[in-house]
Amino acid sequence: MDLDVTDVEQQVSTGVLPGASRIDELVDDAHARYRDLEDGRVADYIPVLAGVDPRLFGLCVAEVGGGLHGAGDAGVEFSVQSISKAFVYALVCEAAGHEGVRDRVGVNNTGLPFNSVMAVELNDGHPMNPMVNAGAIATTALVPGTTPAEQWENVRTGLSRFAGRQLELDGEVYRSESETNARNKAIARLLQSYGRIDVDPLDAVDVYTRQCALRVSAQDLAVMGATLADGGVNPLTGERVVSAQVCRDTLAVLASTGMYERSGEWLFEIGLPAKSGVAGGIVAVAPGKGAIGTFSPPLDPAGNSVRGQRAVAHLSRSLGLNVFASSVHVPERAEPLERQVPLA
Ligand code: GLN
Repeated sequence: MDLDVTDVEQQVSTGVLPGASRIDELVDDAHARYRDLEDGRVADYIPVLAGVDPRLFGLCVAEVGGGLHGAGDAGVEFSVQSISKAFVYALVCEAAGHEGVRDRVGVNNTGLPFNSVMAVELNDGHPMNPMVNAGAIATTALVPGTTPAEQWENVRTGLSRFAGRQLELDGEVYRSESETNARNKAIARLLQSYGRIDVDPLDAVDVYTRQCALRVSAQDLAVMGATLADGGVNPLTGERVVSAQVCRDTLAVLASTGMYERSGEWLFEIGLPAKSGVAGGIVAVAPGKGAIGTFSPPLDPAGNSVRGQRAVAHLSRSLGLNVFASSVHVPERAEPLERQVPLA
């Protein structure tokens, strides 16, 4: 699709966040509301993740102006997992350009689980989008670097620039997943058989497995998301990490695919581009305003954190973040918020 908008005057469509003390109050309120919610199950297909404390719950809002508003375990670290896909995609778009990555990786939802092999087979070997494992491995294969070690270093430094601090590998998570990721290796080989990746498929999976094992906190996720909300400039360090165009591309992909096969429902109810990971993190981005990072390990059947989804839903409404809302949210039904946001 070629839409020529080059000679159109550019405007943005955003509002403002409430003042800092109000954001603090609302973040504390969201934390208090869902702290005792016990639904969901901690992921165990990566063996080491099964041992995590299910009560951990951290929240943070980062403003594009640099303000941070945390509650609970906002500083506790966990592995970023699939959330890395969003930021590696942004780095690869920055390096390889919009068209190249769109054609190679795609931007459409598969409607199937994140590690589906069938999705690849049903689509003529095409990985479909960068937020499912096939597309994420194909995207990681495009990271600049002449060796896997150089690619990994570019991923680690790139994600660290989004976070505004040096992120470290969780060696235990990396080893645990490396020993059990036969399916990701199979997906990479399948992509190779269709001529969709040019590097050694096992090297691409190894860099991908490392990127998933980087340690972040809910606060880091909020800052990383706020960098995407801020046209690519990290609000804490002032460093430009990617271009504003890349942020738009990345947020569009997150809106359609970031919450796996539940992405449509998520956008319908919550109205924010977001990405979740199996260790229990979620990042949700309000363009021009800021981002929310959450951490709580128990997941719904699609693999999205239960408390995290609730907290983001609450904050999206109370902070006025829904990108489709042109007026204040007024619940139509006299129901508690949690019943209006059904989980898988
Ligand atoms: N490393 C995990 C995997 O590839 C990430 C999955 C996820 O967070 N959904 O299976």
